[in-house]
Amino acid sequence: MSASFAVVGSGPSGMYAADALLKEVPGSRVDVFDRVPTPFGLIRFGVAPDHFKTKNTARQFARTFELDEVRYLGNVEIGRDLSIDELKDNYDAVILAIGSYHDRSLGIPGEDLPGVYGACAFVGWYNGHPDYRDLAPLLTGGGVAVIGIGNVALDVCRVLAKTPEEMQGSDIAAHALDTIQAAPLDNLYMFGRRGPVEAGFTPKELSEVRDLERCAVIVDDAQLPATVEGDFEGREKGVKEKNLTLLRELASQEKPEKPIKMHIGFYASPVEILGETRVEGLRMEHTQVVDGRAKGTGQTFDVPCAAVVTAIGYQALAPEGVPMDGTIIANNAGHVEDNLYVVGWSKRGPSGTIPTNGPDSRGVVDILLGNLAAGAKPGGDIIDTLLAKRGARVVDFEGYKKIAAAEIARAPEGHPLEKFTRIDEMLALLDGVS
Ligand code: NAP
Repeated sequence: MSASFAVVGSGPSGMYAADALLKEVPGSRVDVFDRVPTPFGLIRFGVAPDHFKTKNTARQFARTFELDEVRYLGNVEIGRDLSIDELKDNYDAVILAIGSYHDRSLGIPGEDLPGVYGACAFVGWYNGHPDYRDLAPLLTGGGVAVIGIGNVALDVCRVLAKTPEEMQGSDIAAHALDTIQAAPLDNLYMFGRRGPVEAGFTPKELSEVRDLERCAVIVDDAQLPATVEGDFEGREKGVKEKNLTLLRELASQEKPEKPIKMHIGFYASPVEILGETRVEGLRMEHTQVVDGRAKGTGQTFDVPCAAVVTAIGYQALAPEGVPMDGTIIANNAGHVEDNLYVVGWSKRGPSGTIPTNGPDSRGVVDILLGNLAAGAKPGGDIIDTLLAKRGARVVDFEGYKKIAAAEIARAPEGHPLEKFTRIDEMLALLDGVS
């Protein structure tokens, strides 16, 4: 059976889907699109730069692009260069793997002030995403408050707290490392609207902030329950217990004088971001957890800070013509409509680690194959003609490899690579323009 497939998005869920299609339909052809020249989505732009080993997953996906049956079409945006209907008309099936690439908002006064950043933007900035190259976050006034107590919030705090020596071996973008090191950071706050047991962070990530060179972690022992109560079982309960043990350890830790203090606070929800022309502080309301939900007590307190980063989860934004269901693409077990499918965070919401996407994408491919009328569509040739007619500048995998090699070649000492952070720079490199 021969079939042609389009996968939109080259992050983990898209690449697992491409692998599954190739395995299940030998002889098929898979075109993988990405709107930036460089592939691998979340691996390049979401995983924390000091978790560089995790980024090695990209090597496995790079092998897929070496296969003759697979093409990488980077720098092609669906909705700008091609429409969803054009993909549906030309491929036997189309899989959207576009992630949850937009910040959810808090919906509180002051959220539009300069100095408020969603984690998608902030993480994109220190990871060198071209969209956020010029974010220039206002880290000039001392404190930074991070809303949320998931692993993204911990990533943001840790990257802000680490010294340049501790960032050795990372692929943090130079502009971000310079800005962070020049910032007079003194207090970092990480606020959870619920308690330590409900926190989304995991023990490995929590333990990474325990012994930082220039940052002491402050936890109030009075906020820590004696045991993990609630509806948790097995592995999940074990994770909660480990978190609690670590938090107790942090609460009782000797607090040597360090320039930065990271306060991990629970039972507090943001009600207003304060400031006239930029962020000057944050008004928080104490909460209680009632039936698993945070409920405000009416008692507030103010925290002085120069910037607020919201790490409260992401949402998908579908290309025109694709239906949404709240913060995800509307789907039934991955089937959107006709020959259109969705995988990963845009299907199920932003949860889980990179490998979580393997079974998820394979499950959707199974459903797709059950509906497939293979060989009914012409495949990528008409798409190539459309792209050429529209003057799209497609970056293929060979082009990406040139970019990646140049990034390694220009790495500063102690770092594995220095990313190009502007699309123009990448294209100029491919054109041989220095
Ligand atoms: P998350 O774990 O769901 O954390 C989101 C946090 O935001 C929660 O504390 C949540 O509180 C809070 N929140 C949501 N809405 C809020 C509001 N209106 N006001 C105040 N707080 C609010 O998500 P994440 O940290 O964005 O991470 C996304 C996924 O990526 C997770 O599965 C995570 O584990 C994974 N990840 C993994 C790693 C790693 O493995 N190293 C690194 C980064 C991310 P409630 O719980 O009360 O809703």
